[in-house]
Amino acid sequence: MRNYLKHYINGEWVESTGSDVEEVINPATEEVIGKISLGTKEDLDKAVKAAREAFPSFSTMSKDDRVKMLERIAEEYEKRKDDIIETITDELGSPLAVSEKVHFMMGYNHFSQAAESLKEFSFMEDMGGHTRVKESVGVSGLITPWNFPTNQTSTKIASAFAAGSPVILKPAEVTPFAAIILAEIFEAAGVPKGVFNLVNGKGDVIGDGISSHPGIDFVSFTGSGRVGKKIMQNASESIKNVALELGGKSPLVVLEDADIEQAARTAVNHIATNTGQVCSAATRILIPNSMKEAFEEEVLKVLPEFTVGDPRQDNKVGPLISKKQWNTVQSYIEKGVEEGATLLAGGTGKPEGLDKGYYTKMTVFSDVKNDMTIAEEEIFGPVMSILTYEDLDDAIRISNDTEYGLAGYVVGEDKEALRKVATSIRAGRIKVNDAEADFAAPFGGFKQSGIGREWGDHGIEEYLETKTILGYPS
Ligand code: NAP
Ligand code: MG
Repeated sequence: MRNYLKHYINGEWVESTGSDVEEVINPATEEVIGKISLGTKEDLDKAVKAAREAFPSFSTMSKDDRVKMLERIAEEYEKRKDDIIETITDELGSPLAVSEKVHFMMGYNHFSQAAESLKEFSFMEDMGGHTRVKESVGVSGLITPWNFPTNQTSTKIASAFAAGSPVILKPAEVTPFAAIILAEIFEAAGVPKGVFNLVNGKGDVIGDGISSHPGIDFVSFTGSGRVGKKIMQNASESIKNVALELGGKSPLVVLEDADIEQAARTAVNHIATNTGQVCSAATRILIPNSMKEAFEEEVLKVLPEFTVGDPRQDNKVGPLISKKQWNTVQSYIEKGVEEGATLLAGGTGKPEGLDKGYYTKMTVFSDVKNDMTIAEEEIFGPVMSILTYEDLDDAIRISNDTEYGLAGYVVGEDKEALRKVATSIRAGRIKVNDAEADFAAPFGGFKQSGIGREWGDHGIEEYLETKTILGYPS
């Protein structure tokens, strides 16, 4: 049992001022694996006070010292590798291999990348007529979702630390334990007291409190558009800047000359990774009319490799995060059938033999039209929609016919066509032919996918204000 009934405030584990406790459930077993305290506004006030007190010295800590601090964090993070993997598999239900290769590694990469980006970062520049200075934004409030318990927390924290901004973190209450390990890592790495504060609790209490708190200067949020809008409204009261990362409905354009087997594997991989609970997943697969049947055949061939089941066994796909998410995904599948899409694989209900745990079937819809609900809304589950296109312009038109703009994908050979699609999709991140990850590359969305960019030097920029000085004595 993991019982963590304290918050981490001003460098100490402190009792909650409230008495409400929340049970945390392992989605693969539906069993209670621990408890957390649900914080109060009073707890939040204490955390804000600690962060404000830490601000003057932390924001003026030398760049060199901040680089060293981030490097020590990366070292301490590495030492906790096994704990992090185990914890994420328990609270999120991701297969052990995914917890290691995706979740553990993303957190590690964000801390190391922030150290590297910071080394190159210039905080003062002589522009001739004026001097331009970048200064810490102040105290930052971070609100994170459950689908990547180390990635979203780590990218925000690493950037804030690089910029000299003390933080208050409120992780999703369904996956709170990875953040507890982070607090322990920061303590081991000698992060000064008050620089990192962790307050657990409900979104509509602590999250709402963060976005409206007059003592918090900046809010970085990842999660649903519904909550993102509320955060912006709250933040407007004190003219707080916000960064929002709000999900997507990203297209994967398969070109006529693409290796069809590879394309099918890429498409299935998108809905399999993290059980499709990925904001940047490609969930609309755009196929040339002429290739539709061949592509469907390949998808059906590849699908059985992506076994759904116990994340502690050798499976590729674990359960969904919660009963609530399971119900949401089922209703989208029903909606797809109702609206006339062809159910090629999967469907509603649990996969055979998996009665316990929030498992859902890998589901593929074909003959999907872009105005169907399953093509418009973020499902956040292993559900693929196959759509067809006439020519490249049609593919680009369909790709952009969405309120989202987080990511886009294109696979094929023809360089002209690859470039055309990559530059025409209105989204923050385009990937050509399964290109490798780059943690220095900015991450964030166009349109309703959000505001701002995380990762690397762009991530650091989010936590800075620009000051101009005229007549700075040289
Ligand atoms: P969510 O409600 O937006 O939750 C994200 C975070 O915001 C959690 O920490 C949540 O706290 C907090 N929160 C909730 N209400 C808040 C409020 N009024 N003010 C401030 N913070 C608040 O997302 P969800 O309910 O977990 O998931 C719903 C859907 O959002 C998913 O199905 C998916 O489509 C989308 N989503 C997108 C991403 C992404 O990466 N962009 C991530 C997760 C979900 P608690 O939940 O702990 O109360
Ligand atoms: Mg919620």
